[in-house]
Amino acid sequence: MGKPTGFMEFQRELPPDRSPLERLNDWQEFHDHFPESKLREQGGRCMDCGIPFCHTGTLIGGMASGCPINNLIPEWNDLVYRGLWKEALERLHKTNNFPEFTGRVCPAPCEGSCVLGIDELPVTIKNIECTIIDKGFAEGWVRPEPPEKRTGKEVAVVGSGPAGLACAAQLNRAGHWVTVYERDDRIGGLLMYGIPNMKLDKTVVQRRIDLMAEEGVKFVTSSAVGVDIPAQKLREEFDAVVLCCGATKPRDLPVPGRELKGIHFAMEFLHANTKCLLDSGHQDGNYISATDKHVIVVGGGDTGTDCVGTALRHQCKSLTQLEILPRPPDTRQPDNPWPEWPKIYRLDYGQEEAKARFGDDPRIYLNTPEKFIGDANGRVKELHTVDVEWVRADNGAFIPKRVPGTEKVYPADLVLLAMGFLGPEEAILNDLGVERDARSNAKAEYGRFMTSAEGVFTAGDMRRGQSLVVWAINEGRGAAGLD
Ligand SMILES: Cc1cc2nc3c(=O)[nH]c(=O)nc-3n(C[C@H](O)[C@H](O)[C@H](O)COP(=O)(O)OP(=O)(O)OC[C@H]3O[C@@H](n4cnc5c(N)ncnc54)[C@H](O)[C@@H]3O)c2cc1C
Ligand code: SF4
Repeated sequence: MGKPTGFMEFQRELPPDRSPLERLNDWQEFHDHFPESKLREQGGRCMDCGIPFCHTGTLIGGMASGCPINNLIPEWNDLVYRGLWKEALERLHKTNNFPEFTGRVCPAPCEGSCVLGIDELPVTIKNIECTIIDKGFAEGWVRPEPPEKRTGKEVAVVGSGPAGLACAAQLNRAGHWVTVYERDDRIGGLLMYGIPNMKLDKTVVQRRIDLMAEEGVKFVTSSAVGVDIPAQKLREEFDAVVLCCGATKPRDLPVPGRELKGIHFAMEFLHANTKCLLDSGHQDGNYISATDKHVIVVGGGDTGTDCVGTALRHQCKSLTQLEILPRPPDTRQPDNPWPEWPKIYRLDYGQEEAKARFGDDPRIYLNTPEKFIGDANGRVKELHTVDVEWVRADNGAFIPKRVPGTEKVYPADLVLLAMGFLGPEEAILNDLGVERDARSNAKAEYGRFMTSAEGVFTAGDMRRGQSLVVWAINEGRGAAGLD
């Protein structure tokens, strides 16, 4: 431990984000970096506990407690405190192929289980992680490291999200030839076309892909396996195939009026927006515009937040976000003790921006859509909602029950459905004869990642269901057998 009394001397401090109203005028990232002296103080708050829960990555109640890729957090906190940044970078890269992604977008379950967090504010682990890798790139320490020897084995990875990329990076490091197939025109999966630019700048994603290409990974874009390339062909031509195709089937909202124009799945909105931004700086018009529209976002998760931030940057007229669950409490409840992930109310970046623009958090809790009403041209113009309460059904499960007399009507020109995902698409799994689990994900035991089809492995959201970037990295590394 660098500074035994650090946690008593220094308070938790993060660099201030760019102001919400200012950042709504552009698509640049909103986080800034601290000067080095401040970072060292923050690293010095780490107590190097006997059992560093921050890097355990255990599942408690289905939620991660600690870092799912077991980052060696106390070690690099100490190195940062001592100003040994290059050594900190080496420690960080031992467990994490892409700290520049997790350092930006990870919800940081590590901080939820930081021992200091029991009665103080936790160490700023995620911010320190991001600074170590950003400094590493700025100093030129992150260089291509192709393997010294090749094994002669060839592996096809299908899907280029964080699971596919982590798997490819690890297999390549072990000396295998790796080809990554991606149906989109750019590599990165949801890192590229899901999470918007203001949260994860696409030059940061492309920089890592270029590095991997220099290390020998081959990338094939605009090639949907099962459509443009028969899946069996990959099976025949490669020694192994790893499926990392994500969990891309969106949950729909089967209420009257769903067919009206102006109602879209969140990913249609987010994908088109980023593609148009990257292709032409929003000049080619190939995106769904929220400009001057009354926007409703249905769903209060990460995807919904990204829709909020994107619609605000389009200069929408109003913004409402509906969430069927209750508002979380402000502090941990007795049934959610440390080191569990704290299930508390958070004002994420999108809601913070909405509050700055319109005066309030746009989320309405315990509320659900009942029907959409259209105009004479078949375009949505109104959303009718009702409040719900959660009651126990006969089988013991909690279900939402409508509360009569709480009906409301909202003006709606654009509705974005962000209610989660139902699992992977089936075509490629059917082609290869891969069994599914009870939740329709590709079936493979965690830790082995082998499917029912010989020589075919799977990792990331496709196996696990929609999850987090850090879990996708964990699984990609695991499927490569080198985590
Ligand atoms: C809008 C949004 C925001 C999110 N924000 C966060 C966040 O802030 N932090 C966080 O930790 N997690 C976030 N997540 C979740 C996170 O992005 C995912 O858990 C993670 O990207 C999963 O990685 P993956 O590699 O398994 O799949 P994906 O990233 O989904 O990548 C799968 C890739 O496979 C490709 N593909 C599919 N089928 C084929 C085929 N037949 N042939 C070729 N290619 C194919 C797809 O085009 C895609 O590029 C977010 C998710 C969404 C939707
Ligand atoms: S990857 Fe996520 S959980 Fe792990 S140290 Fe980084 S921010 Fe924490």
